[in-house]
Amino acid sequence: MFDVAIVGGGLVGASLAVGLSGRQRVALIEAAPPPVGEARWDERCIAVNHASVCILESLGVWADLRAEAAPITSTHISEQGRFGVARFAAAEAGLDALGYNVPIRALGSALWQRMLALGTTTLLCPARLQSLVRSDDAVELALDDGRIVRARLVVAADGMNSPVRELLGIDAERRDYGQSAIVTAVQTTRTHAGCAYERFTPGGPIALLPKWPQGGDRICSLVWTTPREQLRERIDCSDDDFIAAAQAAFGERLGRFSGLGARQAWPLMRVMSERLTAPRVLFAGNAAQSLHPVAAQGFNLGLRDVATVAELLNDPAFVDSDPGADAVLAEYAQRRQRDRARVADFTDQLVRLFSNRIPGLRGLRHLGLLALDLAPGVREAVLWQNLGFGGRAPQAARTPA
Ligand SMILES: Cc1cc2nc3c(=O)[nH]c(=O)nc-3n(C[C@H](O)[C@H](O)[C@H](O)COP(=O)(O)OP(=O)(O)OC[C@H]3O[C@@H](n4cnc5c(N)ncnc54)[C@H](O)[C@@H]3O)c2cc1C
Repeated sequence: MFDVAIVGGGLVGASLAVGLSGRQRVALIEAAPPPVGEARWDERCIAVNHASVCILESLGVWADLRAEAAPITSTHISEQGRFGVARFAAAEAGLDALGYNVPIRALGSALWQRMLALGTTTLLCPARLQSLVRSDDAVELALDDGRIVRARLVVAADGMNSPVRELLGIDAERRDYGQSAIVTAVQTTRTHAGCAYERFTPGGPIALLPKWPQGGDRICSLVWTTPREQLRERIDCSDDDFIAAAQAAFGERLGRFSGLGARQAWPLMRVMSERLTAPRVLFAGNAAQSLHPVAAQGFNLGLRDVATVAELLNDPAFVDSDPGADAVLAEYAQRRQRDRARVADFTDQLVRLFSNRIPGLRGLRHLGLLALDLAPGVREAVLWQNLGFGGRAPQAARTPA
């Protein structure tokens, strides 16, 4: 019998396996083989905020990642055809960096390496969860290779379309934004100097984030939110045509785009599980909430789910008790509710405000950006939210990096 069975070994499930290491008997069930891969200059990256860096430090993986992480020292948010600009700098918060842009490959690999080095997690991989049966004191999970696993608590970290959620018949609120994110990398003729740019255009927001270290300071991750009806055209067109269109949308703040990486597309949905817990089960990461990437908050939020679970199961008040007890689950739901709602609502409002083409909204957006740039109270609130300190942050998120 395991204390905890984690279903899903993506970034969130693997982080939790490391966070629970040594104190609980933990099994990790992952359908795909362990992540491996060579570094590529155009690989997909993820922006992690300051709170996430603190958590990754507490998990013992940040030191391995640091060499591949590009510091984001400032942000610049603008709207095409308008003067309003919002800028934030790390120095305002007394920090060296607001966050870091990290290759997903490096993050996944560092977490798996750490888990393997600690040697305390029982890995069931590759193996796919097929069914689960709950009793009063445990959950029995059946895998597609015939193995049966019993655990007192199941953590569903099995992604946006969570099979655990489906098997338990728990609903999720789904919103299809009718958009996809095209993700690639560009070389620029001017240095990014650590600045992350987000520019809102009628064709969708386009974000350029610093990338490190493959091309010095002239390579950026590019994330372009694209209405689904334009997706094929932007994916199938030549590199030259894509560069010309992206350059027209973004402008010349970073000079000319001089090279382009491989393009990948991700359909954008908001999926909010109607419940964060069920008897002997809790949801974390994308299984709990999948968000539009416009505010780069999905993994950051998932990592705070992880830190909260680890904090709770290591809390002296709960450490000797049943990890799947109702009191533990209720405490988890209560601690995560506010942060989750705040980040999900902020992200959704940003998508709606900037995708809506009602004429009056343009002025409102303009005022919004000016307020962000000028009004100290608003600036601070948004800055702290984006650093990951909104709501009741778990202790690991507050330790200085
Ligand atoms: C274009 C884009 C850009 C983004 N940028 C950012 C960003 O800058 N910052 C940020 O914080 N977030 C960002 N995100 C969000 C972030 O990528 C996700 O929130 C995060 O990767 C979710 O991780 P997860 O482990 O919860 O889910 P997943 O990565 O979906 O992992 C789920 C795992 O469960 C496994 N699984 C599924 N079913 C089963 C089963 N039956 N049995 C066993 N295993 C199973 C899968 O194989 C998978 O490994 C972005 C997302 C997109 C689409």
